[in-house]
Amino acid sequence: MDVYGIVGNPVGHSVSPPMQTAGFADRGIDATYVTFEPAEDEIEQAIDGADALGIAGLNVTIPFKQDVFELVEPDPLAARIGAVNTVAFPDAGQPQGHNTDAAGVTRSFTHHDVAIDGQDAVVVGAGGAGRAAAFALADAGADVHIANRTVERAESLASEVDGASGGGLDSLDEAVPAADLLVNATSVGMEEDATPVPAELLHKELAVLDAVYTPRDTRLLRDADDVGATTIQGLWMLLFQGVEAFEIWIDEDAPIEAMDAALRDALD
Ligand code: NAP
Repeated sequence: MDVYGIVGNPVGHSVSPPMQTAGFADRGIDATYVTFEPAEDEIEQAIDGADALGIAGLNVTIPFKQDVFELVEPDPLAARIGAVNTVAFPDAGQPQGHNTDAAGVTRSFTHHDVAIDGQDAVVVGAGGAGRAAAFALADAGADVHIANRTVERAESLASEVDGASGGGLDSLDEAVPAADLLVNATSVGMEEDATPVPAELLHKELAVLDAVYTPRDTRLLRDADDVGATTIQGLWMLLFQGVEAFEIWIDEDAPIEAMDAALRDALD
């Protein structure tokens, strides 16, 4: 039996085990998926140990996405993002690092029949999720504007992403009315019923993805729904980052419906 897992601290709340386990079961794959919670200063031993023990693949979550980036061979996209959330352990050679949050963003839009190529996209946030969203959308052909509370972080990210611009949250006033796509990649909306994007900037031509997935209907998505915009909950991004990881490990199409059903059950 192959062993997969997720490394994080804390990791007990993760919904990846039921989601990935459902994928393996649906495809008849003899594999299990478990949680690993190393101490924060023991991540290097954890990755070495996983490699030595023949673990087949790992997801990586808070606070280890940047640390693991340093411990594996990142693919070109993960190298640009600077963070790894999925590791594959080949039979020989170094562990391979991937960032499937990027595909989580683009596949969430395409699954909802929202075009990305040639569209104007606004990414709010310049942390890990913001970096993944900005590179993914630019690679898929969007013109990207990054707005972040800390302006320097947005400007610095924009200088790395092809054709992107960056600014503070006040730059949303101009960018959102002209945008086709909007991604909230901040944590605003998770702890309290708040939104990083003033409701009056939203319009019905927008497709809005909120990376926040608890609660499912964030204030931003409710505001977007009120003006007739297309709304995409963060659980889609969570689903598609997992689907992409499954497809990297297993090298066949993931059973999206089975994984989606398990994810929704786990989040209820
Ligand atoms: P992170 O690296 O810590 O970045 C946090 C971001 O939020 C930064 O841009 C930060 O701005 C901004 N921020 C925090 N508090 C703010 C506030 N009060 N007002 C305005 N901006 C604020 O976190 P992350 O890993 O990118 O995660 C961000 C969110 O995405 C989290 O809710 C996470 O759960 C979610 N996420 C979801 C998925 C998914 O699959 N659905 C995947 C990854 C992440 P500064 O730079 O100014 O601090």
